[in-house]
Amino acid sequence: MEPYRLSNYNQFLIKKDSVIGVNLHKQYLFSLDREKFDLLKENRSNLTALKEKSPVLFSTMYKLGIIEDSEIDIPNILIMRNRQQVFSNESFRLIINPTLNCNFSCWYCYETHSKKYMSKETVESVIKFIESLATKNKISTYPFFDRKIRLSDGVYLGLLREF
Ligand code: SF4
Repeated sequence: MEPYRLSNYNQFLIKKDSVIGVNLHKQYLFSLDREKFDLLKENRSNLTALKEKSPVLFSTMYKLGIIEDSEIDIPNILIMRNRQQVFSNESFRLIINPTLNCNFSCWYCYETHSKKYMSKETVESVIKFIESLATKNKISTYPFFDRKIRLSDGVYLGLLREF
């Protein structure tokens, strides 16, 4: 099995003689000669050969995350990193979005202003969730997603009554 592969998190923008690249996992932005980019592409299924042919290009691409070890499991690494951040943090920021039915009409708005509201079951689940966080002293504020949301809706008032 080929020990290296091109990362699925690569994005390239070809501009005549040069290529701008980014690896969304490592988050490095860089530019590359078109000639080197073509060499990388030609050897995409045999990166070990590229390592022999052009060691400097290979090691640069490896450092930037463009080339990665085949056995590395990036999605799982990202999930782990996210869980570490979420669960190692003492505080928990919760944003409640009871409806997308905003009563403003900003000229640049792209929302459909759906009339849907949070169901009673969802409200109850949110309340239980907040209670469990509050018991663990994980939460101290409950910001609503949009302060402009109509208060005539029972959902919003229901949540306010509870807390
Ligand atoms: S406040 Fe936001 S959702 Fe409401 S109309 Fe303006 S842009 Fe749209």
